Amino acid sequence: MVYETGNQTVDDAVRRVLDGETLDRTDGLALIAQPADALAAGADLVRREFSDGTVDACSIVNAKAGDCAEDCGFCAQSAHFDTGIDTYGFLGPEKVLEAAKRAEADGAQRFGIVVAEKGVSKEHRPDEWNEIVEAIRLVRDETDIEVDASLGLLTREEADELASEGLNHYNHNIETSRRYFPEVVGTHDFDDRLKTLRRAKNAGMDLCAGVILGMGESPTDRVDAAIELQGIGISSLPINILNPVAGTPMGDRDHAAISKPEVLKTIAVYRLLHPESRVRLTGGREVNLAPDEQHLPFEAGADGILTGDYLTTEGQDPGDDIEIMERAGLEPNRAVNEFDPEAVKAKHRDTDPDTAVGTATSNATTELDD
Ligand code: SF4
Repeated sequence: MVYETGNQTVDDAVRRVLDGETLDRTDGLALIAQPADALAAGADLVRREFSDGTVDACSIVNAKAGDCAEDCGFCAQSAHFDTGIDTYGFLGPEKVLEAAKRAEADGAQRFGIVVAEKGVSKEHRPDEWNEIVEAIRLVRDETDIEVDASLGLLTREEADELASEGLNHYNHNIETSRRYFPEVVGTHDFDDRLKTLRRAKNAGMDLCAGVILGMGESPTDRVDAAIELQGIGISSLPINILNPVAGTPMGDRDHAAISKPEVLKTIAVYRLLHPESRVRLTGGREVNLAPDEQHLPFEAGADGILTGDYLTTEGQDPGDDIEIMERAGLEPNRAVNEFDPEAVKAKHRDTDPDTAVGTATSNATTELDD
């Protein structure tokens, strides 16, 4: 394989990554200033070396929606903003299991139980805690897919209990850089989030932690967020692109405040900074990338996807997502859940024969994982 893109900064970085070096902030800042096509080519080389040629799909359920006391400026589920979404309490273990089985049938390798909360509190809401733990047990015992959860901030004891109940992964996004975080969230600190990630990791869970692009952050903020995640050690790096929600402080725009080349550059730089993590394309891609552009992130280093619906917006059909992977020359991961991709695609065609890849609509009320 020829490890050259024609761009010296990118080629030097690729060679160092392939030699086992970890790139640092200086490298990241130099890289993010390079052209998108060279970065994409370099990131693709690195992905080929570190990844197995598959795209890993996960899926989530919004298990408790809205009325969150926090004020995250991108989020339709905050009680601080009037976004008109449906709110409801915890769905209960059986409904969570039903959602997990649907995700399994659609090819997800991992299923995330998400609640709209600063943190599920075992001490203050023990009944709800017990129901969530029961849901984790059910999904663990009655499906073949891995169990993930996004329950907000955790104490050390809570993290230990979740791990001992068989929770494989914990999702807790840092959203943006330490510098820009206070512009987005006023009710808790960046360090609160890092503490929870460390507790989950110390308890033995793998970490899924990422960002939202297009909230007004700078390219330097994007690099700094990725460097922060290097210090934590994550196995999955979800990249959301803001889908502005009417009623939130970021809701008065048509789309995210980031161009498509900048999205691709960021994905590529994240691959170079996190060569061994799944770089996962998540919320907002349908709104910010045209149907015929959705495969491009997978040619720029991405190797993971959040498939199915988001928290309060409709996602694409999982059959469409498989076709997008295939357009980039990749195939769905089936390491945990050995599903039949052709059956998932056929189910989509049978359900809605007129829907072309990438044309699923979003009701644009909200999105994004916690
Ligand atoms: S992102 Fe999570 S913590 Fe923040 S307002 Fe939304 S649900 Fe609450």
